[in-house]
Amino acid sequence: MARIAIAGFQHETNTFSPVPATWADFMASDAWPGLTVGAPLFDAVAGINLPVAGFVDEARALRHDLVPLAWCSAQPSGPVAAEAYERIATLLLEGLRATRGIDAVYLDLHGAMVADGLDDADGELLRRVRATVGRDVPVVASLDYHANVSPRMAAEATALVSYRTYPHVDMAECGARAARLLHEALRAGPFVHCLEPLDFLIPLTSQCTLVEPMRGLMDEVAAAERGGIAALGLTPGFPAADVAECGPAVYGCGRNADEVAIAVRRIADSVRRNEAGFSLELYSIDAAMRMASESAVPRGRPVILADTQDNPGAGGHADTTSLLKALVASGLQRVLAGVICDPTAAERAHAAGEGSSVEVSLGARCGTPGESPIEARFKVIALGDGRFTGTGPFYHGARFELGPMALLELGRVHVAVASRKQQAADQAMFRHLRAEPADYAVLALKSSVHFRADFGPIASRILVVEAPGPNVADPARLPFTKLRPGLRTSPRRN
Ligand SMILES: [Zn+2]
Repeated sequence: MARIAIAGFQHETNTFSPVPATWADFMASDAWPGLTVGAPLFDAVAGINLPVAGFVDEARALRHDLVPLAWCSAQPSGPVAAEAYERIATLLLEGLRATRGIDAVYLDLHGAMVADGLDDADGELLRRVRATVGRDVPVVASLDYHANVSPRMAAEATALVSYRTYPHVDMAECGARAARLLHEALRAGPFVHCLEPLDFLIPLTSQCTLVEPMRGLMDEVAAAERGGIAALGLTPGFPAADVAECGPAVYGCGRNADEVAIAVRRIADSVRRNEAGFSLELYSIDAAMRMASESAVPRGRPVILADTQDNPGAGGHADTTSLLKALVASGLQRVLAGVICDPTAAERAHAAGEGSSVEVSLGARCGTPGESPIEARFKVIALGDGRFTGTGPFYHGARFELGPMALLELGRVHVAVASRKQQAADQAMFRHLRAEPADYAVLALKSSVHFRADFGPIASRILVVEAPGPNVADPARLPFTKLRPGLRTSPRRN
């Protein structure tokens, strides 16, 4: 039995977003707990599809003694404010120093965190943890599928393990893999590792593991993790990050350097061979309206429009209205859109009450260029307190805290409004407002890919729509200045 310190500090940073992640953002709970320190961490994450939860269950099954330090995450946004980063890093490191007899450390990280003045904020955190515990204590980190893995992260960690699904339905499972890896490092000593960055960025919507080429590539990765290879990971990266280490990479670690290097090279070569398959497929709002109106929608099988560029799960504000305006004007029947983050509109709906109608200025609060609110009289169909539990495979077990929510009606469109931004990736977000997604003909969701886990099975068709928003879908359009030489910003088409 070993004594293992556990900590988590997750942020996915869109460096092009002007909105920073502050201390208050890490304190607040959303779908996941806010900053939780010490023993309450166990209850706060229990049963949630999160790496730390999977780690705790598996490490306990392996009979280790767990010392919870702290865990926090904030919604994707611009860089983490320096003050927030230092405060949280200090909290973790002081907790580590104050705990006697630590045999190992587990870190639940995202891997694409940028803080003010720190382009590789995860690598820096790993460096500080390593400097605190010394070379001989195993430090294993689990990483998001969207990690931009740096050589520093690979060098400071004993091992890195990353999700294999997007939608991320295997977060808890990834934590369990981290526990087994740490167990192995404690049993038989350190690993050698190999990291191979790839030389083109992959748009988020082309990274989905429910479709090719990523589905087959991830199967290949899982199958190759055997023999002398303790962990093998393909991280497609988070493209909206203007840092030198942005982009996809293949990482492996194990006992046999040659075996690890060969396995890593094989996966990297497979990704290169599939480059053309990652090209972006986007529809303009007009094209999406046309296709939605021409689609024969079977009952219970809506057409889904993914409003990817305003996906709050990638740094969007969840408040743009262009797609919503087009839907209202289109005359399409049985439309459900959301989830729009607008605390003022939600408050007005609550003050007016269910069944009433109310003048609302909806959305466009964060100043996305060209966006304006919808000023209209909406009918209040349903109200909710924003507290409910995720039921889909991605947000499974998540205890949502979205503040006052409302289902509003304008013309033939129902729109779900919340007081905190959250990616529309779970049907419970609408059912909380008595809206059953399958009863609609068209769903417009503020999500890029995660919605596919819960909504994919009911969709007759999925169109990724290029409506305005801060999460630019095509990395080639981002004004990068810091990418490493030779990195291409979009996949070659042939
Ligand atoms: Zn991710």
